[in-house]
Amino acid sequence: MKLLENKTALITGASRGIGRSHALLFAEEGANIIFTDLQANDNSESLLAELRAKGVRADFLASNASDFAQAQEVAQWVEANYGRLDVLVNNAGITRDQLILRMSVEDWNLVLDVNLRSVFNYTKAFAPLMMKQRAGSIINISSIVGLNGNAGQCNYAASKAGIIGFTRSIAKELGSRGIRCNAVAPGFIETPMTRQLSEDVRKEWMKQIPLHRGGLDTDVAHVSLFLASELAGYVTGQVISCDGGLAIN
Ligand code: NAP
Repeated sequence: MKLLENKTALITGASRGIGRSHALLFAEEGANIIFTDLQANDNSESLLAELRAKGVRADFLASNASDFAQAQEVAQWVEANYGRLDVLVNNAGITRDQLILRMSVEDWNLVLDVNLRSVFNYTKAFAPLMMKQRAGSIINISSIVGLNGNAGQCNYAASKAGIIGFTRSIAKELGSRGIRCNAVAPGFIETPMTRQLSEDVRKEWMKQIPLHRGGLDTDVAHVSLFLASELAGYVTGQVISCDGGLAIN
């Protein structure tokens, strides 16, 4: 029996990177997948084809996760077309790094909107359906930066720390309805987001990681798979780091 057989999962911002890896792993474990991204592109089309080739039902919805009304439309579409949602992964996220003295109000707002408001939008949009089902697993992708902070990333750190407070509150609010809510805090993961960093910055990160390597997007997806599945049936309100030990330094 696969871990997510007969389950339906939605992952935001999943055309590439960590979200894509979640979609593929969850599909291998039997889940039907709905994934979103800002717009359709080669990545979303190839992911859709790969998911369907695994024999599960899959759909892509172009939707801006930071837009409240669009999240409501996605939830209505999912309820009408799939009838239920078992797993919600709030993954969409961006960086706009800058030291506080140079950070614009636009970059502050944009990062908070895409990274944190989106988590509110999707949790609020799908809570009624999950409450009706009396079951659901919500997984919010935070970051080690939300736990430890990072110079040059105060907007990102605030958004990811906000996700942790939100996660624990939702776990308390919705636990009695059978809904679990947890966060994953990845460290340095090899994705397009981190490939933008200079070689010097990368070397500095590697020195600080006890396992001496960057994480893979599949490393993060494996933690989420545990949280999504019944293996984590008694786990809620937790923040699980997936960082090669970085956070213990
Ligand atoms: P990524 O490769 O940049 O992928 C992010 C995805 O989110 C892209 O597909 C992007 O779409 C999409 N997206 C951006 N804005 C969106 C919006 N408003 N609505 C819907 N989708 C949107 O990033 P990643 O490294 O996989 O990161 C995924 C998550 O993990 C993020 O929340 C990130 O903060 C978190 N994380 C990453 C790392 C790391 O080391 N990579 C570490 C800790 C936490 P486009 O293709 O259109 O831009």
